[in-house]
Amino acid sequence: MSKEWLSWKSSRQVSLRAAGRYLLVVALIYTFAAAIFTGVMLTKIEREAKFTRETQIPLILSQTRNAVKTERLASLIRAIYLARDRRLERQVQLQVQALAQGFPFEAGDALVAGSKRMAILAKEIAAARQQARDSATQNVTAFTFEERATSAYAEAMKTVDEMAKELSGDAALSADMLAQEIESGAARTRYTVLLTVLMPGLFCIVVLLLARRHLAKPILSAIANLHRISESTNTIPARSRPILTELAMIGDAVVSYGEATSELRRKNVVLQALAEEDSLTGLANRRTFEAFLKSALEKNGFGGTAVLMIDLDHFKSINDRFGHQVGDQCLQSLAQLLLSMDTLPNSLAARYGGEEFVIVYNAISEEQAILEATFLCRRIESMRIPLEGEQTLTLTASIGVAFARGGDESDMNDLISRADKALYLAKSAGRNRAICDNVAQREREARTRTIR
Ligand code: GH3
Ligand code: MG
Ligand code: MG
Repeated sequence: MSKEWLSWKSSRQVSLRAAGRYLLVVALIYTFAAAIFTGVMLTKIEREAKFTRETQIPLILSQTRNAVKTERLASLIRAIYLARDRRLERQVQLQVQALAQGFPFEAGDALVAGSKRMAILAKEIAAARQQARDSATQNVTAFTFEERATSAYAEAMKTVDEMAKELSGDAALSADMLAQEIESGAARTRYTVLLTVLMPGLFCIVVLLLARRHLAKPILSAIANLHRISESTNTIPARSRPILTELAMIGDAVVSYGEATSELRRKNVVLQALAEEDSLTGLANRRTFEAFLKSALEKNGFGGTAVLMIDLDHFKSINDRFGHQVGDQCLQSLAQLLLSMDTLPNSLAARYGGEEFVIVYNAISEEQAILEATFLCRRIESMRIPLEGEQTLTLTASIGVAFARGGDESDMNDLISRADKALYLAKSAGRNRAICDNVAQREREARTRTIR
């Protein structure tokens, strides 16, 4: 991996504290923006409500009042037409005039003109009726004035119809506009509220997804590595480097801790081998042998435990004649031979020290242990150590046998010293043989009895 790539990767990292700060800033900005936006929205709604209350509703109310006035004008005209009484006609005509003047200018040109026209027509009806009454004797003329009054009444009714149409059109338009404005205002508010509520939810989902990817995953990977360390298996570095600096550092620390632990484990295995094995022959060393013997004696069950103490005969002279290297070779060959005896039950072959070796195993009886040791002497005897050229070297060994019967309370040191004593006897008896300390004891006792 190139250095540029590594530096680019690390530049993409962000610390946990910085990430927390970014989130806080985003949350604060959002809160302020949402508050300002909601405030503006509510002010707008308030302004619209005020406008509706102050302008649109009075307009609708004034149009309703105008409609009532128009209806009243129509009733008064009808009253003039039906009155047929001069005083009543005059009175009603005055009322019509007063009502027509009561139409405000903001009611619209058509209504003002209509109301004025109504006043004129009321006057015309009243005047025609008066003229008809005045010329009552001349039937033809009276009829003409009566016709004029009727046509003025008809025109007045027509004007009322037009004014009513004008009024209902305006009122419907205003009501419709008002309803539309309230409706669109409600829709705007709904979307704004939905957006303001949904945004934090979406933000939380995004934060949770990011936390899962960049927080939980690296932590789980570090935990898995810690488990691998406790299970003595190799740690695995994360596939992608965590984006948060602290987590990347934790991941790296766990991986290097795992590597250091593996190294320590490897060294431990070597150290343990050094502590338990003999470096020249690869056999167990004296300490391992003693621990093994101690535990074998503790579980000493069926049969018993036999210790075979093996010492090469005249080994010093081999060293002197052929050199230490050949001497070492002899020791290694004997070690190989002893290892091949691992078919003995619950056995261990060890280098006791120098050219002395030892075998401990679960023997059936003392006799069987002596037989096994004698057989070993023969195998050592038949061993051929290759020298330079075609020459070979032969070795012999003396073996001291000690046996502890199962169930006896035997001391480890006592058993070793008995095997050592038997070895001394084997050396004294001429070497290249196996002797058990008890047998030697019995022979000594028999010899003493014969002399007597
Ligand atoms: P004996 O039959 O009485 O046992 O005679 P011996 O010569 O074997 O007796 P001794 O115990 O005096 O001699 C043991 C020799 O073993 C002395 C020492 O030089 C040799 N020796 C001990 N350890 C090693 C070793 O690791 N390598 C070699 N090459 N020689 C060793
Ligand atoms: Mg010796
Ligand atoms: Mg010796």
